[in-house]
Amino acid sequence: MAHLAWAAALTAALPLAGTAQTSTIAPRAATKLPAPLVYLRDVDATIAQDIKYATTDNFTGARVDGYEAGECILTRQAAEALKDVQADLRREKLSLKVFDCYRPKRAVRAFLRWTRRPMDEGALTKRFHPRIARDSLVSLGYIAAVSGHSRADTVDLTLVSIASPPVVGTSTYTGCAAAPDRPEPDTSIDMGTGFDCLDAKSYTGSRAVTPEQRNWRNILRRAMQARGFRNYPREWWHFSYRATTGAAYDFPIAHRAGQALDR
Ligand SMILES: [Zn+2]
Repeated sequence: MAHLAWAAALTAALPLAGTAQTSTIAPRAATKLPAPLVYLRDVDATIAQDIKYATTDNFTGARVDGYEAGECILTRQAAEALKDVQADLRREKLSLKVFDCYRPKRAVRAFLRWTRRPMDEGALTKRFHPRIARDSLVSLGYIAAVSGHSRADTVDLTLVSIASPPVVGTSTYTGCAAAPDRPEPDTSIDMGTGFDCLDAKSYTGSRAVTPEQRNWRNILRRAMQARGFRNYPREWWHFSYRATTGAAYDFPIAHRAGQALDR
């Protein structure tokens, strides 16, 4: 029964091309984006999306300014390259899951304001930055004052297995610097930390995680590298597509037109 529930959940998360997007409203032209940008879902609907900053499930504990919809927007080049990565991984019974893509400049400013606000240390601190004070996160390189995400050529992502049920984690999050034997309540492959664990344990080559966890990080890094993405060595999940000099954008992320409202 648990397995069936898992399979149903995964089917929902990873729709097969051509069968996805059954919408109750008629398709319309896509929401207008600046010319080089596309909705990832329009390029590859099989890549799972869990855009954390459009929810309260992130290190600020609130939906972030500029995230009016949980949609991944990237430059067309980056989106096409990600589609190629996804095709490569499918052969290994793996899929990508994106956590963040284009990030409006106003969201970057909101993060900086958050680092300067008085501390309200608690569960979120324990979960996301247990060993680093909030006002040191910028200087230590965990929160960017200017982010490649605003150029829409940078993506945060992980791997999920489409071959076997995921490791079932604890029902609550443990501190992200804790011993790596309690995976988070997430269907992703266990990388030793969750997304946005702002800690040295998230360094891609960290020796504070198990060899198996480090191996999964390397599988992700190699797959992304093969299609032109470069990893940020302090975050196993953060990749930029080639070196670009593209502009940074600040429009809010909106729903795609033609999209059912309950998505
Ligand atoms: Zn990132």
